[in-house]
Amino acid sequence: MKAKVKRDQLKAGEVLCDHCTGQCCRYFALPIEAPATWEDYNHIRWYMMHGSVSVFVEGETWYIMVFADCKHLQSDYRCGAYETRPDICRTYTTDECEYDNDAPYDQLFETPEQIWEYAHAVLPPRLRRTENDPVSLPVVSV
Ligand code: SF4
Ligand code: SF4
Repeated sequence: MKAKVKRDQLKAGEVLCDHCTGQCCRYFALPIEAPATWEDYNHIRWYMMHGSVSVFVEGETWYIMVFADCKHLQSDYRCGAYETRPDICRTYTTDECEYDNDAPYDQLFETPEQIWEYAHAVLPPRLRRTENDPVSLPVVSV
């Protein structure tokens, strides 16, 4: 495993990526609509049941994050498709990359149970408990 060198410890001519394990090539994240209803949270819970999926919030924006190594990431952590890499890779820089930022989110949900627990904290109680609800809810009579 490569030693973690801090940004301000780089020697002249060194590139931060030389000390990285290709963190930015190991996932992709897409903005999603901020959940507002039980149905919304149930959808997110379903996304997360597929594994290797997290959800994070930055400011007011929610993102789904899918962990999957790019097929071109080589064992030496270099790009195996450098000449034909997508634009998003060409324009990405180390300026604000995740190299030394382990928790850059305002909120991070790593399991379906976490997002469901959060839904229970922020939404009004549902009227009925359902078989699909893994978290105990007081049943409110109608
Ligand atoms: S841009 Fe940042 S996260 Fe991506 S390989 Fe370089 S140092 Fe690592
Ligand atoms: S194409 Fe290259 S730079 Fe882009 S994600 Fe894949 S390995 Fe990384």
